[in-house]
Amino acid sequence: MAKPTRTPGWSQSAAFRAIGRAAITAWNLKRATLPTCTAKAKRTGEQCRQLPMTNGKCRFHGGATPRGDKFHVTSLPSAKGPDGGEKKLQAKLRQVRRDQKRREARLAAMTPAERERHDAWHKARQPGPAAPRAEKRRQRAMAKEIRQAAALPEVFSPEAAELQRKIDRLEALLAASSIDTADIDIFQ
Ligand SMILES: [Zn+2]
Repeated sequence: MAKPTRTPGWSQSAAFRAIGRAAITAWNLKRATLPTCTAKAKRTGEQCRQLPMTNGKCRFHGGATPRGDKFHVTSLPSAKGPDGGEKKLQAKLRQVRRDQKRREARLAAMTPAERERHDAWHKARQPGPAAPRAEKRRQRAMAKEIRQAAALPEVFSPEAAELQRKIDRLEALLAASSIDTADIDIFQ
């Protein structure tokens, strides 16, 4: 049995065509007033004209990059489609391997100073769930505070000053004469 050919009603009707035209005109007018992606196009250097996603960038300029718990975690395609997503999965894995090779080449071409800066940047931006990352951030801040406290000059105390005065006096006495140190009462 032959499948009946379906002709879309709207293209046959002048009234429907008018509705379609009005809708697209209204959208085009609204589209011109909407904010656009804040990235600059690589080819032209001009601001991108795509509609932005929640972070202000379009999906071609990082708008679709996962945030929060999915930050820097490779996301695999869903197992949908007639082949169970096999083709998409293989393409994604090829892309992951390609990115890995590029990263290795970039690291190999870095100067030691560049590499140090790169490592520091990535150390402060480790991937993974939000809670452990927040805990690491807290520990880093604490370690920084301790380092700063250790670098401060010692706190002045009257007891320490008095002890230092006695040490200085003893050393002066020793330097002045060859007397037996056991006879000296420093606590006077
Ligand atoms: Zn864009």
